[in-house]
Amino acid sequence: MPKKSVSKTIKKPVKISEKTTIKTSKKPAKKTSKPKAASKKPAKVPKLKAEKQIEAKKPAKKIRNKLDDKMTEDVISGVLGEEALPIFYHLMDKEKVSEFEIAEAIKKDIHITRSLLYRFFEHNLATFIRRKDKQKGWYVCYWDFKQEEAIHLFRKMKKERIEALNQRIEREKTNDFYMCRNACKRVDFDRAFQIQFKCPECGDLLNPLDNSRTIEFLGDKLNELKKDSN
Ligand SMILES: [Zn+2]
Repeated sequence: MPKKSVSKTIKKPVKISEKTTIKTSKKPAKKTSKPKAASKKPAKVPKLKAEKQIEAKKPAKKIRNKLDDKMTEDVISGVLGEEALPIFYHLMDKEKVSEFEIAEAIKKDIHITRSLLYRFFEHNLATFIRRKDKQKGWYVCYWDFKQEEAIHLFRKMKKERIEALNQRIEREKTNDFYMCRNACKRVDFDRAFQIQFKCPECGDLLNPLDNSRTIEFLGDKLNELKKDSN
């Protein structure tokens, strides 16, 4: 089966601009028949097995459509850097894409493209297979983006952000903070006490701060994060 999809990719070099690619992915998921029935039956018919393999790819797409593109972009730029985004846009709706096609699509030299692709690979966000090009005689890598891993990373990132925010709110609620009138530096009570309530920067007196607005702001941020993290 992989062989088939490779030749398909080569024969039909899809030239889609970044914008179109994003748009395409926002299309609501077409009803995909779940492989449930297939997996329940211990079918041993070879034909069915092949069907199952094709079907197995669908749930990933379904999950992906639930996630906003923005979120996946968040993961890619957060983990791999923004320069990796064009590759993601090119790979997201395709299978087994030749590294040369990618290089052309992102308008980068093949060496730069490869190093970007290896960044995906290092973070388990893409896989590749190597195939010998029959005409040219050299090896070409064909790449696949790993959406499941991106979702996994996204959830992990979100969880970490929520935890950090919770800790920060807890710290704001359980501590008193101080600052001089020049707003040089914000310090907590222990630190203020240590330096005898004198600003470490300008030497002015440190005054207690009302952090209720900060707590409110952080609370809103936390709710926002929780809202889209299911
Ligand atoms: Zn100061």
